[in-house]
Amino acid sequence: MNLKDHIRGVPDFPKPGILFYDISTLLRNADAWQVAMGRLAKLVRAHHPDILAGVESRGFLLAAPLALKLGCGFIMLRKRGKLPGPIVALDYDLEYGTDRIEIQADAIQPGQRAVVVDDLLATGGTMAAGIALLRKVGAEVPAAAALIELEFLKGRDRLDVPFEVLVTYD
Ligand code: IMP
Repeated sequence: MNLKDHIRGVPDFPKPGILFYDISTLLRNADAWQVAMGRLAKLVRAHHPDILAGVESRGFLLAAPLALKLGCGFIMLRKRGKLPGPIVALDYDLEYGTDRIEIQADAIQPGQRAVVVDDLLATGGTMAAGIALLRKVGAEVPAAAALIELEFLKGRDRLDVPFEVLVTYD
């Protein structure tokens, strides 16, 4: 199965000139979703994770079923102010301005192997922030993974861990 047949490119979203890759069409199709999860599971399993960290919000849709498949726990890297209890935050730069992601302070047991999962890697800023935040709370990060990579943005060059991906666009 070619997963690209199930990913829709939406022109001019969320801003004019941006081509947005939409995974809604893949998730709607049970076979395509299952195939994607099976392939990603195989790639991620090789890094022997104890836990998968999903990036809000589309990363959750992939990381949670993947964690179940691999017999791992699942944790959330969330936007500002969404998580209850003590949290650890990390600010990171965007093209214009900054953003913040947060994790529950007790989400990771010291030395646990956490793989970060998101739907798409663009500039790599979000994924790099996820990796840094996980390390801040004591995780070892053996790899990062996504469904889609926008290769021309060279986001993987910003990551200091192996990056696993199913579909690339250039
Ligand atoms: P980066 O930080 O530039 O790598 O952007 C990646 C983040 O932006 C991910 O959390 C994605 O969910 C989101 N993103 C950027 N472009 C797209 C797109 O075309 N489709 C879906 N999500 C996108």
